Parts: sequence; structure tokens; C-alpha cells
Amino acid sequence: MAKQFETIALIGIGLIGSSIAREIKDKGLAGTVTVSTRSEATLKRAQELNLGDRYTTSAAEAVKNADLVIVSVPVGASGTVAAEIAANLKPGAIVTDVGSTKGSVIAQMAPHMPPGVHFIPGHPIAGTEYSGPDAGFIGLFKGRWCILTPLPDTDETAKARLRTFWETLGSMVDDMDPEHHDKVLAIVSHLPHIIAYNIVGTADDLEAVTESEVIKYSASGFRDFTRLAASDPTMWRDVCLHNKDAILEMLARFSEDLAYLQRAIRWGDGDKLFDLFTRTRAIRRSIIQAGQDTEMADFGRHAMDQK
Ligand code: NAP
Repeated sequence: MAKQFETIALIGIGLIGSSIAREIKDKGLAGTVTVSTRSEATLKRAQELNLGDRYTTSAAEAVKNADLVIVSVPVGASGTVAAEIAANLKPGAIVTDVGSTKGSVIAQMAPHMPPGVHFIPGHPIAGTEYSGPDAGFIGLFKGRWCILTPLPDTDETAKARLRTFWETLGSMVDDMDPEHHDKVLAIVSHLPHIIAYNIVGTADDLEAVTESEVIKYSASGFRDFTRLAASDPTMWRDVCLHNKDAILEMLARFSEDLAYLQRAIRWGDGDKLFDLFTRTRAIRRSIIQAGQDTEMADFGRHAMDQK
């Protein structure tokens, strides 16, 4: 495949950063890839995995001469990283990120971006519950959406280059207003994770049921929540703190709907329950039709069965 950028700097080399690194190398998308992460231990591991060409713990050092800079750190660290790299960004460089919240990342990063640098925030809607450089893999972004939330004066050529980059990684790309992104993601991603953290926490706290029973009988539904609840605590702490308004709005809606369900159960209103459960089943079918999951029963666990 043709080279798209002379030099790419990757700031943060966990699940997302290292998946991007593997794709760049596999597809030959850059002349040089500079990998930067704050800790010596993660940097050493990235080097052992051969994820780049140059390695440094200094983000400021990494972005010198980079044509594309991809920031893949927890959203709460975006502002510090932006302040650190600002003075060394090359005029004409594209700076993007992969953070799960967009309003807060823009508020933290945009003020540091020098004139002549194209700052185009992004968010690949792809991930797993694992983290760190070993967790990344080729194919993570294939068939998944990547949302760009460009600022009003964004250069069209720079945006087109970033779009092509994500498309080469196998993604479909959408543009979205940052505020709308944060609302949509609050319902499709942030709320499900919060509910999962909560339900797993509740089960863990229950005194009438032992922990061994929770684990032993988990195939009845509980285990499907545990995958989400095993997601990275730092990342999800930051998502909750940085998309506060949209999450609180969705949680309020969720609580109202839960009260409706609770009432239907209390009063034995089977029709209400049946109607809701029928409506939700159709959503599952739509997700499969859209290619965002497979029909395979016990999705995600067939690999374990083959062991
Ligand atoms: P990860 O695997 O935990 O990797 C995090 C990376 O950020 C590591 O290189 C880590 O460096 C660095 N880092 C952590 N705290 C930092 C700080 N305070 N300052 C500077 N660097 C720091 O995380 P990830 O899953 O790749 O997530 C990265 C970003 O992608 C997050 O913003 C997240 O919201 C977004 N995202 C995640 C997913 C997902 O499913 N995981 C999906 C889409 C988007 P050290 O190891 O050297 O400390």
C-alpha cells in the first residue's frame, strides 16, 4: 500500500495506539513511526513488539517533524499532552486523537494548537476490555466506524487525508458535531459500561449470594456484563468525569425507564414487559444486519470452546 505520511508520531501506545501502530507498519503507511509513552516500562514493551522505528518517553521530542500526530491517552491527560507537544509541532501537521469523549478533549487541546497546525479530533468506535501495548491487534478497526469531530474552520485537505488514513485501516468514517457525539456515545457506550460496573458491583456486594455462586452460575447472563465491567478503570474514570452532562442526562432517562419496568413487574403487567422485550429484540437484529455483530450464539466465546 502507498505511504500516506512521511513521519507519524504516536503518543500513547496502549490498546488503541498499538493497534494503529501495527496497521501502519503492516500497510506501509509511514516512512517513520515515532512511538512515545510516558513510562519506561511501556516504551520498552513497545520496542520489544517492534511497533515503531524511534522510541522516546518525551511526547515533545516525538512530534518534531511529524506530519501526523495521533494522541491515544486517557481523555483526562489530553490537555497535558497538548501543552507538552505544542511548541514542537510542525506547521501543516495534522494532530488527532482517539478519545472517547470529544467536547472535553477539544476544550483541553484546542487552545494549545499553534496556527498552521490542523487539529482534527477523532474517535474510533472499536475496542476491547484489554489495555496496554500487547492488547492491540491488526483488524481492530475493520468494519467499525470512526467519528471525526472537526472544528468549524478545519482545512478540507487535511480532513480528507485523515479520513483516507482511517479508511485504509478498514473503518467507515463519519463527521459529527462534538456535542452530538458526546450524547450518542453516552447512550451507546458510556451508559452500558456504567450499568455493567454497577451490576457487577451489586453482585459482589450481595450478602445473600456467595461470590462462588455468582461465578459458578454466571452463564445465565451475569458474565455478559463482566466483560464490560473488566474495562480499564483509568479510561472509564476519565470518560465519566469528562462526559458528565451527557451521562447524567442519559442516566436520568434510564432511571425513569427502569422505574416504569419496575412498576410493570410489581403490578404483573405482562403485556408491557412483553412489548418492551419484543422491541429490544428487533434492535439486536438491526445490529446484526448492520454488520456490527454476528449471529453466532454466545458471541465472543467460541474461541474458548475450541480450546
Ligand atoms: P491503554 O491501553 O490503557 O493505553 C494508554 C496509553 O496512554 C499508554 O501508552 C499509557 O502510558 C498512556 N497514559 C496513561 N495515562 C497517561 C497520562 N496521565 N499521561 C500521559 N499518558 C498516559 O488505553 P487505550 O484503551 O488505548 O485508550 C486510549 C484512548 O483511546 C482513551 O482516550 C480512550 O478513551 C480511547 N478509546 C479506547 C477504546 C477502548 O475500547 N479501550 C476504544 C475507543 C477509544 P504508560 O503505559 O506509559 O503509562
